[in-house]
Amino acid sequence: MKFLDWAKIYVKSGHGGPGCVSFHREKFVERGGPDGGNGGRGGDVYIEAVNNLNTLIDYRFQQHYKAPSGQHGMGRQRTGKSGEHCILRVPVGTQVLAEDQETILADMTVEGEKILLFKGGDGGVGNAHYKSSTNQAPRKSTPGFPGVETTLFLKLKLIADAGIVGLPNAGKSTFLSAVSGAKPKIADYPFTTLNPGLGVARLGDHEMVFADIPGLIEGASEGQGLGDRFLGHVERTAALVHMIDGTATDPIKDYDTIRHELEEYGHGIARKQEIIAINKCDALDDKVKAKLEKAFTKHSKSKIFMISAVSGDGVEPMLASVFEMVEAHRAKKDDQIEQSDGFDPMKK
Ligand code: GDP
Ligand code: MG
Repeated sequence: MKFLDWAKIYVKSGHGGPGCVSFHREKFVERGGPDGGNGGRGGDVYIEAVNNLNTLIDYRFQQHYKAPSGQHGMGRQRTGKSGEHCILRVPVGTQVLAEDQETILADMTVEGEKILLFKGGDGGVGNAHYKSSTNQAPRKSTPGFPGVETTLFLKLKLIADAGIVGLPNAGKSTFLSAVSGAKPKIADYPFTTLNPGLGVARLGDHEMVFADIPGLIEGASEGQGLGDRFLGHVERTAALVHMIDGTATDPIKDYDTIRHELEEYGHGIARKQEIIAINKCDALDDKVKAKLEKAFTKHSKSKIFMISAVSGDGVEPMLASVFEMVEAHRAKKDDQIEQSDGFDPMKK
């Protein structure tokens, strides 16, 4: 299962700086001649595929990207400074579509690939350029050439890196919105209305996509409650986060209930790497926590993290551990190309 991440942005390559009209001035030198320099080139707009990004979320916040204009030429034949280039860094797999949402301008499939999208305008020429034997004192210069200004669409197929499973009330949604700082960020994602909820967690400058799998209860595999239909969303994830309500009456039993449903579902989900997050530790005293941790260590081979989704305690080491699994998984299936599921929020 895949989700489509996309963003609409506005880019502009820099205008060329205007040429300059100037005449050489120096004491005792009469009619020094034209010395107006050319304008600088406007900055180009590039797009680059990078490894550490996994979503287009940044482009939801900043939508305008402008390369600066070139500076104007100056006297003494000085050329204006060129505008700096603007580089759009996107995850590998991003497609860049033109304003019509159909023409593909770039398909960023290779890490490190950098493509020139729009050149900046050339600088205008200064009057020094127009000097000739018949016109020794030209007053002519040209303005810079304009840059390109346009709307672009970025499109990326998003695959959840990790699925969060657990009984209702374990704190899956709370965890998701806490780690991803996600609520405001993904609020305007078209797929937040889809189930399961997705969130993007950051660890340093890396990103991971978590999917919240709701509705798993005892008997889900036999169609109880929402059933196991959402499990399809984690079939291709790198790892499972098994969320446990540490304040529940029998957390071990809760764990087994979910494990049973995962096994019944099949499709290799039960064999996925798993970490166990014992949640709501803020509401537990140290003795209970120690007991729980010991019981789970005995019960399962998976790594165990004592966390509080509400206070954030213990969350970072847990994310780091999930991230390790995700990285290993990504490295393995880097060259696998997958089919779209046909969902396209940009097409009405
Ligand atoms: P979900 O059904 O697994 O998505 O669980 P929710 O995220 O909706 O959380 C269920 C309840 O547990 C809510 O009332 C949360 O406020 C509470 N909760 C979630 N995480 C924590 C936590 O770390 N500590 C405490 N004390 N309560 C939590
Ligand atoms: Mg929930």
